[in-house]
Amino acid sequence: MKIVNPATEEVVAEVEATEAAGVDEAVRLARAAFARWRETAPGDRAALLRRFAALVDAHADELASLEIVSAGHTVSTARWEAGNVRDVLFYYSGAPERQFGRQIPVPGGVDITFQEPLGVVGVIAPWNYPMVIMMWGTAPALAAGNTVIVKPAEQTPLTALRLAELALEAGLPEGVLQVLPGEGEVAGAALAGHPGVNKIVFTGSTEVGKQVMVKAAATVKRVTLELGGKSANIVFADADVDRAAASAPYAVFDNSGQDCCARSRVLVQRSIYDEFLAKLGNAVNCLVVGDPLDEATEMGPLISAEHRDRVASFVSTAPYMQGECPAGRGFWFPPTVLTPASLDDPAFTEEIFGPVVSVVPFGDEIEAVRIANNTRYGLSGSIWTRDVGRALRVARAVEAGNLSVNSHSSVRYWTPFGGYKESGLGRELGPDALAAFSETKNVFLADQ
Ligand code: NAD
Repeated sequence: MKIVNPATEEVVAEVEATEAAGVDEAVRLARAAFARWRETAPGDRAALLRRFAALVDAHADELASLEIVSAGHTVSTARWEAGNVRDVLFYYSGAPERQFGRQIPVPGGVDITFQEPLGVVGVIAPWNYPMVIMMWGTAPALAAGNTVIVKPAEQTPLTALRLAELALEAGLPEGVLQVLPGEGEVAGAALAGHPGVNKIVFTGSTEVGKQVMVKAAATVKRVTLELGGKSANIVFADADVDRAAASAPYAVFDNSGQDCCARSRVLVQRSIYDEFLAKLGNAVNCLVVGDPLDEATEMGPLISAEHRDRVASFVSTAPYMQGECPAGRGFWFPPTVLTPASLDDPAFTEEIFGPVVSVVPFGDEIEAVRIANNTRYGLSGSIWTRDVGRALRVARAVEAGNLSVNSHSSVRYWTPFGGYKESGLGRELGPDALAAFSETKNVFLADQ
């Protein structure tokens, strides 16, 4: 597989694609490693994860560079990613020694519950935040005593491969963490359907997620699914409009809009609609789009020419405004603000996964919630208001897994992350992820 730099269209690496037989071999190795890894003393597993985290820290610049040349990320996004991978590993390195069971009082004996690892976990990752999403599945799975096989996206296997090397260097035994670059329909599908795999963590499109769920059903594999989104950013008239407008572009154009949490539907209360649009337009005009290696750059290219064509297909009417982007080589698309005439416009209903935002007016709180919930997705969202009562009421009413008030923050690795409805199943990060990689066993000892 040729790995292409999205900013220059140059081939930066070639990577061998894994076929189905390679997946079989990896699963055999992972099962053999599982037998030993689950018996490794919790303190030793914790120490190995801490060493792995320290090596990620020491190689942060190298990992960031690999992400920049293969995913087209800006320097600041790529640095954030390397830091997040390190932090997530450190966070879950605290878990092996804290995987507590329970003793529940019952009549006639003693009852004990144990948290046991599942076995072999397959992590299928997308190209938008390659190393971060790989690690959200991998770190808690390893901490809970599982072995892991990662199938990175076709476009972005370089950081995953480097992380697997660093894991070995840290001392993780062979077979505990393997990375298999390959085609989704070959290596990904083989992993999802493999009877020797106990769980799949899939992050990607809702359509492929459904196929993975069907494959997993054959052996009742556990699944965690992190899928698409079309999140709402609801701005009430009593909000700090300057702050809401100044930050809105970053809530949707970060990573060029290739973000499952992108707030690509902005709902603005009618009395401030014109004021908000004007301020949003100014903020979009100030966005620095260009060379990902330039420290000042805020938005880079899209992942591929095909993806750029798909993004462009959603802009079927004259935009309210469009920012600048480089001409020439690279998969560029300008930040674009639409004011769709209809709520049925595909730009307003479909996940575009590019730098395109739609802004629509609403009358009152009830209408805002109705528009926000009128989607098959339910991943994230923001609420801008100075009224705390309203903030909580609306946050409770919006059908989404991650909401933030007067902020666009979606991901904090201490807290659970995941979607309602067709945005996913299960939760990653925080304490919840450990439960997702453990089986609960109950043992009853009768009184003698
Ligand atoms: P995708 O579904 O095309 O691919 C994701 C991964 O699945 C890749 O590794 C791919 O090779 C693999 N794959 C493809 N076909 C497969 C099959 N038949 N069986 C098994 N694996 C297969 O998604 P993408 O285009 O790489 O990523 C973009 C999508 O990911 C967007 O919809 C985005 O919203 C979603 N996403 C969600 C989250 C979240 O946490 N909810 C995070 C990031 C991205």
